[in-house]
Amino acid sequence: MEDERDIKMIQDLPVTLCIRCGKQRVVVSTQKETINGSTIITTLTACPDADCQKKVEDQFEKERIDREKFSESKFPLVRGKAPKVAVKAH
Ligand SMILES: [Zn+2]
Repeated sequence: MEDERDIKMIQDLPVTLCIRCGKQRVVVSTQKETINGSTIITTLTACPDADCQKKVEDQFEKERIDREKFSESKFPLVRGKAPKVAVKAH
């Protein structure tokens, strides 16, 4: 089935490690959208340690706010709190 193939592709991606504790991040959600006939899968990952994940998010948020304060023109709207991986499928 189409969905099972997509999930396998995500698992084949390089492992994302938590920037704080180095644990392997887990996929919390995947989003599928079709752009120009290609299926784009966006994967949102989080640290398996909830406390750690929260600290990472706080850090990202703080950095984002700092960046916006510094130079909004150089870093226009960096959105999302966790790294995202996009995959093109056929
Ligand atoms: Zn962590």
